[in-house]
Amino acid sequence: MAVKVCKFGGTSMADGNVINGVKKIIESDPQRRFVVVSAPGKRYSGDTKVTDLLYKCYEELIHSGSCKTSFGAVRARFNSIVRELNIDFDISTLLDETEKLIEEKKSEDFTASRGEYLCARIVAEVLDAKFIDSTDTVFFKEDGSFDGEKSYKAISSALNGVPRAVFPGFYGQDTDGNVKTFSRGGSDISGAIIARAVNASVYENWTDVSGFLACDPRIVENPKRIKTISYKELRELSYMGANVLHSDSIFPVSKANIPIQIKNTFRPQDDGTAIVPITRYTLSGSTVTGVAGKKNFTVIFIEKSHMNAEVGFICKVLGILVEAGISVEHIPSGIDTMSLVIESSHLPADKLQTVLEEIKKAVAPDFIRVIEDIALIATVGHGMSSSVGTSARLFNAIASANINIKMIDQGSSELNIIVGVKNDDYEKCIRAIYREFFR
Ligand code: ASP
Repeated sequence: MAVKVCKFGGTSMADGNVINGVKKIIESDPQRRFVVVSAPGKRYSGDTKVTDLLYKCYEELIHSGSCKTSFGAVRARFNSIVRELNIDFDISTLLDETEKLIEEKKSEDFTASRGEYLCARIVAEVLDAKFIDSTDTVFFKEDGSFDGEKSYKAISSALNGVPRAVFPGFYGQDTDGNVKTFSRGGSDISGAIIARAVNASVYENWTDVSGFLACDPRIVENPKRIKTISYKELRELSYMGANVLHSDSIFPVSKANIPIQIKNTFRPQDDGTAIVPITRYTLSGSTVTGVAGKKNFTVIFIEKSHMNAEVGFICKVLGILVEAGISVEHIPSGIDTMSLVIESSHLPADKLQTVLEEIKKAVAPDFIRVIEDIALIATVGHGMSSSVGTSARLFNAIASANINIKMIDQGSSELNIIVGVKNDDYEKCIRAIYREFFR
């Protein structure tokens, strides 16, 4: 029988009643055998996620040698979840042990991972399923990257003959045997890893929204829902800020062509969004699948005549950034010009000054200028490559909204066109693009 892996995010774990809803969802489909959970998220706006409470515990521990006060809030959350579930589960002992271990280990990653650990222990109890710890099944390499080969083997053997299992998301084990977490939101990656290891027929990612929207609903009212999207389109959109799924969760499943289905725990009857290997743009009925963006980039614009003839010019400039440990998002270039687009948070004023000085020394540009407060907006869709005039429509729409484009970058796959505009024009620009392609 085909197997489905289901990952439930923080809001799907927020309290006992919601977890009971999750139990119903899982038990309604015998293929839903392997479950990955996040730590309990917010119950209402203004509430604090358990993971954030745990990061506070770590801070308290580092400053005072104990995490007693902050751990009280974690304790209260898990006690009330177990009370609401009305299960016979000794959460007090488990919480005592956890607090003690946090104080002994003094590790930020270990502390942060305990939300997922405790939650998975409870959910395994609720489902009468086997709890499998991710420290025994998800491994990282010496350089900190995920060790697929070792992990997939460990997961398959841990699941051998197990009818139903629950894994905590977000963490694994490093080469020294310590707990190591993925970046925030990383339980999505854990779910994808389990799906890949068992060659699932689908990776169901249960959230609190009924799928991906074609753009941010805080900017455009009631945007269109995306029914089907390709891995690549999704990666572009989630990297640029569409916040439903961790952008790195695509890699494990896309290599095995396992589709991801985004589902809503609170409206399980909704179809959600299918993330699939390929999509024909005619499926979504639109040339453009979605629009997403991010604010606060800095552009370093460099001009030098005959730049294109100077062997190693770009290499020298990039070498300076490598040396400074700064990653570059985009490098649009012309015959005599190149721009480096960098997230402003990676470039504090002193670092920027040093980089500029180094560039001047290394390549003697005719002109160098820094443009700050730039927002990048990606218009994404496979359909763009096969329909004539898409960029003309895009630029016209932006021009008609009286917005000045500061930078253009079209990925070589023709899957997206990225424009840079002033931060202040960000929302207006997204609305203009949405109107052009979706209304
Ligand atoms: N609990 C972790 C976080 O808040 C991981 C996750 O939710 O996926 O980032």
